[in-house]
Amino acid sequence: MAVGWHRPTKLVIDTQAIKENVWNEVKRMPQGTELFAVVKANGYGHGAVQTAKAAIQGGATGFCVAILDEAIELREAGITEPILILSVVDVSYIELLLKYDLSVTVASQEWLEQAIEQLNGIKTQTSLKIHIKVDTGMGRIGFTTPTAVKQIVELVKTTQMLLWEGLFTHFSTADEKDDSYFKKQTNRFQDVLSALSELPKYVHVSNSATALWHPDNVGNMIRFGIAMYGLNPSGTALPEVYPLKPALSLVSNLIQVKELSAGEGIGYGNTYTTAENQWIGTIPIGYADGWLRHLQGFSVLVDGERCEIVGRICMDQCMIRLPKEVAVGTQVTLIGHDHGETITMQMVADKLKTIHYEVACTFSDRMPREYK
Ligand SMILES: *Cc1c(COP(=O)(O)O)cnc(C)c1O
Repeated sequence: MAVGWHRPTKLVIDTQAIKENVWNEVKRMPQGTELFAVVKANGYGHGAVQTAKAAIQGGATGFCVAILDEAIELREAGITEPILILSVVDVSYIELLLKYDLSVTVASQEWLEQAIEQLNGIKTQTSLKIHIKVDTGMGRIGFTTPTAVKQIVELVKTTQMLLWEGLFTHFSTADEKDDSYFKKQTNRFQDVLSALSELPKYVHVSNSATALWHPDNVGNMIRFGIAMYGLNPSGTALPEVYPLKPALSLVSNLIQVKELSAGEGIGYGNTYTTAENQWIGTIPIGYADGWLRHLQGFSVLVDGERCEIVGRICMDQCMIRLPKEVAVGTQVTLIGHDHGETITMQMVADKLKTIHYEVACTFSDRMPREYK
């Protein structure tokens, strides 16, 4: 994909903010707890490798990703810390897991049996590192009963080529005020722990929300994702425990400014008509960049003033209403601070009726990421 290095639209990532967010969590974690930075989906759109490097500086000692290729990307970039792949990897790729020294999630008995078959066919001295996933109520992947977990642990312990490195679960409501379902999941995980006579190196249950709002929960490793990027996992439902520093800004420039007389139409479908003489500016960003059409009517900042996006957002450009004539080349802030005014990812998410996680992941690779 061609990246728009020669266009003024860019994501600016503050790696210092990532480092600080990680450090603020690391320094309040109980002794003996490790923080694994979650950098799946290209570091939630922030750039996986640069985020990982900043996280190490903040005190992260390992990483979580969703898919094998994301893990390989980190290894190819020289990251040597432990990496856990959170989702299911097809057993046919086991040689790659061993080659890159990756830890993999085991979520079913069939998978493990097939994995053992594969391992038997490979001449290797190294063991495959596995984390057993318990489904305590997310309904996604994992073993659902203590008996099933016990059985799998037995199988793992009697298989030379497997190294039992972790046991974990994932909560579905750790970011909500009502903690009744969270407690139900915690109790189920506790039942699994009680059924086992020994535990692996890592027992982990905490995503960002759990780490922030249930810090006394079990486990000795946390999987720190969204909060590392400076975003409140709950959106606005729960107050931040300590100030999270958003790492991402989105800026562009005005590429054209014109005065239109009353009654002129703007954009495809002619959905906006100037009510009087208006200054209209064009910005080179559109839905192909992840600046989605539902953002019509949202505002951006020019010289600290909120300017409405008027007319339909096009694939590569969109138009805004300026309060007065502004020079071509003037910076436009779509997310971030400008002259004391701020547009947050949460505001964009609210306008799109979604969560900031999704907004961050939607920015396309056509936009370059600049690190500072
Ligand atoms: C994505 C993910 C996380 C990180 O969640 P955040 O809410 O971003 O902290 C943790 N654990 C699992 C299993 C995940 O899939």
